[in-house]
Amino acid sequence: MTDYSTYSFWLETSGDDLTPRPGLAGSTEADVVVFGAGYTGLWTAYYLLKANPDLKVAVVEKEIVGFGASGRNGGWCSSKFPVTPGMLEHRYGREDARSLMLAMNDSVEEVARICQEERIDAQFHKGGILTLARGMHHLPMLRSACDAYSRLGLSQQYRLCSASEAQERVRVTNVCGALYASENASIHPGRLVRGLARAVERRGGVIYERTEVTDFEGGPSPRLLTSSGEVRARQAIVLAGESYLTRLAKLHRAVLPVYSLITLTEPLTAAQWAQIGWQNRESLASCNYTVDYLTRTADGRILFGSRGAPYRLGSKISDQQDRHAQTHARIQQMLLEWFPTLKGVRFTHAWGGPVGMPRDWMPMTRFDPATKIATARGYTGQGVSTTNLASRILAELISGKRTELSQLPIAQRRSPYWEREPLRWLAVRYMQNAFLRIDEAGKQGKAKPMDSSLAEFLGRH
Ligand SMILES: Cc1cc2nc3c(=O)[nH]c(=O)nc-3n(C[C@H](O)[C@H](O)[C@H](O)COP(=O)(O)OP(=O)(O)OC[C@H]3O[C@@H](n4cnc5c(N)ncnc54)[C@H](O)[C@@H]3O)c2cc1C
Repeated sequence: MTDYSTYSFWLETSGDDLTPRPGLAGSTEADVVVFGAGYTGLWTAYYLLKANPDLKVAVVEKEIVGFGASGRNGGWCSSKFPVTPGMLEHRYGREDARSLMLAMNDSVEEVARICQEERIDAQFHKGGILTLARGMHHLPMLRSACDAYSRLGLSQQYRLCSASEAQERVRVTNVCGALYASENASIHPGRLVRGLARAVERRGGVIYERTEVTDFEGGPSPRLLTSSGEVRARQAIVLAGESYLTRLAKLHRAVLPVYSLITLTEPLTAAQWAQIGWQNRESLASCNYTVDYLTRTADGRILFGSRGAPYRLGSKISDQQDRHAQTHARIQQMLLEWFPTLKGVRFTHAWGGPVGMPRDWMPMTRFDPATKIATARGYTGQGVSTTNLASRILAELISGKRTELSQLPIAQRRSPYWEREPLRWLAVRYMQNAFLRIDEAGKQGKAKPMDSSLAEFLGRH
């Protein structure tokens, strides 16, 4: 039997029994049938059942609840959206961009509300995010983000901090300034996803674990196909597998699985914390292209996550990719550069998982009444709260009881597919490499590499 507690510290400490629930045994039917028991699938099931307690909802999961990104992430439950505010304004105009940002704020609060309502102890802590400029070259990026938020009328929740203000919050080396964003929390991802599954079951939802969906069909008789039978849907099938959707032939190019890896320290001593500060437990980020994110966990450890593990040809996803020695070593090295007083600290856990990148960086939620296929995906590593928003929209689209949420720019849209291989591999590996080189040049105070404009243009979001 697979020991699921080894997949992340969060699953190990979820406080829940990880023994798999019974799998599907023969074909069956429900009103709504969901692929994947991560946040998207479970939030969608939850809101559908809350709106209509008589509905029959079945969730089909290949491994166990929270096996995917939902049980492995960095714990940021944040109003940060995968697309920058400036780009949102450019694409959708000020009003729609602002509505989306406000809906993201509300999603953070909604996660807290439901945790309280359903008695899920997800260790919700609203400490905000501090994005640190580690070098003068990062300051323009922070100023431009702050300006964009101000144009959207959100200046009360974003504030530029001087180097000394930032240092008062947390003592990280080489900090020249920071952007503080208040509407953000950190959570225990494992407790959230496992607790959410229990809430879905209390409302009558059925979760089949260790049951692999191999294909799906839409139309008059929509269904998920598995080796143990098919699950037919009277109302809708929901494809909620984020990166894992790429394993289905029909959705192979829908998102790009890019690995983000995490390393975790042992709990720090009171003396170590006294040297570092970080009393408010803000989520911390760098301005690097490798997307570095840090969390001070409720039990006093430092979680440091970053990208960098190489993309594999054919959008491969495998357990082996959860651990990439070179990337984990780079992350541990970075942690010691940020906090040199921690020299000699013990790293107790290392894991990782795929984030799903859509071709236009923009998450989508979509329900087609003709095919009865619904989907929400493409959160690019910002899914903890975005899945909540996307799922509420999806539940509205499926039930037909629409509110202003269904008018948001992520509703009823479609992202283009990624290029075919080997072009996809060539482009992604080039960008991964270019971003590492740009970050490294900035760190050493050198000019950006010659090709940085091309890489930045390709990665513009
Ligand atoms: C290392 C890492 C760090 C991250 N950090 C953050 C963060 O700090 N903040 C943030 O907002 N976001 C973060 N994210 C992203 C966030 O976790 C995801 O966007 C979110 O969890 C996506 O949820 P989901 O339900 O759509 O997908 P998933 O949680 O991936 O769920 C998909 C489910 O489908 C199942 N499945 C796969 N194949 C099949 C099949 N054939 N049949 C049936 N089921 C199948 C999987 O086992 C899985 O349980 C991070 C992601 C990773 C990997």
